[in-house]
Amino acid sequence: MERYDIAIIGTGPAGISAALTAKLRNKSIILLGSAELSPKLTKAHRIDNYPGLPQISGEDFARRLREQLSVMEIHVTEKQVSTVYAMGDYFALQAGEDMIESRTVIVASGVMQGKLLPGEEKYLGRGVSYCATCDARLYQGKTVAVIGSSAEAPREAEFLAEIVEKVLYFPVQGELPQERSNITVLHEKPAEILGDRSVTALRTDLGDHEVSCVFVLRDAVMPDKLVPGVETDGPHIRVGMDMETSIPGLFACGDIAGRPYQYVKAAGQGNVAALSAVRHLLGTAGHNVKEE
Ligand SMILES: Cc1cc2nc3c(=O)[nH]c(=O)nc-3n(C[C@H](O)[C@H](O)[C@H](O)COP(=O)(O)OP(=O)(O)OC[C@H]3O[C@@H](n4cnc5c(N)ncnc54)[C@H](O)[C@@H]3O)c2cc1C
Repeated sequence: MERYDIAIIGTGPAGISAALTAKLRNKSIILLGSAELSPKLTKAHRIDNYPGLPQISGEDFARRLREQLSVMEIHVTEKQVSTVYAMGDYFALQAGEDMIESRTVIVASGVMQGKLLPGEEKYLGRGVSYCATCDARLYQGKTVAVIGSSAEAPREAEFLAEIVEKVLYFPVQGELPQERSNITVLHEKPAEILGDRSVTALRTDLGDHEVSCVFVLRDAVMPDKLVPGVETDGPHIRVGMDMETSIPGLFACGDIAGRPYQYVKAAGQGNVAALSAVRHLLGTAGHNVKEE
């Protein structure tokens, strides 16, 4: 299996900037996320504070970034990373059914907005899942709920419907899945995940639905779920000035690394994270988060 020098999680300005710099430094990289790039880019009506790009729309900004990736021959691997495991001198990234290996990792996954649902943390791994591809087979013949809060969620629900008995789809944002006999779209607001030893139901503003699993599909997950063991500060990963985290070889940048939530700060931190990863690969990286 190929072991990359740098795996970059996220295709917002932070991840793209990290990928550009890492590629310029001649490292083998894998950029994981969506080829459409971050919804936070495309949703911006007009951006007035990005140097050199006056009054640009989010759509145009995203188009230019896609062009730049293409010119630099950087391919986006369209996969959602569910967990990053620190293995000592390398990292293993679970992405769907694939395991990707890399010597360093840059987390540029954006910040999770909103709160966890009551019951979400309690039943994580016991009927709450963040990854349809990883866990679909556990629920063959069962009814599951999908809370669709990401651009990928409709496709994930369609995939689930090939395996499970029935999918109840609760759209929070974006498109709906394609019509299928075993997908029911319910315009209800998820309120709580109920269970005993494992999940038994999803409670909404309109009632309870008996399900064996709730797939919560967001654009970003809490950092300690993505990288078990990393030091966090609320929804952020704690970083030092070089974007280093508490785990040697793991760097974080952009919104996931703290406020302010701004494009130019995300892009700048992506650049620093890539240069720090390159230094780490040379064996000269500083590592001082715990000493701060
Ligand atoms: C409507 C709107 C308007 C804004 N306007 C401005 C503005 O005018 N000026 C300004 O400076 N800022 C603005 N912002 C803020 C700006 O969008 C963010 O600060 C910036 O996008 C953060 O970049 P990022 O790369 O850190 O994260 P994001 O842009 O959030 O990108 C993260 C990417 O990582 C992907 N991802 C997450 N988890 C995973 C995973 N596990 N595996 C694979 N991929 C994953 C996500 O799908 C996403 O594509 C605006 C935000 C919004 C929502």
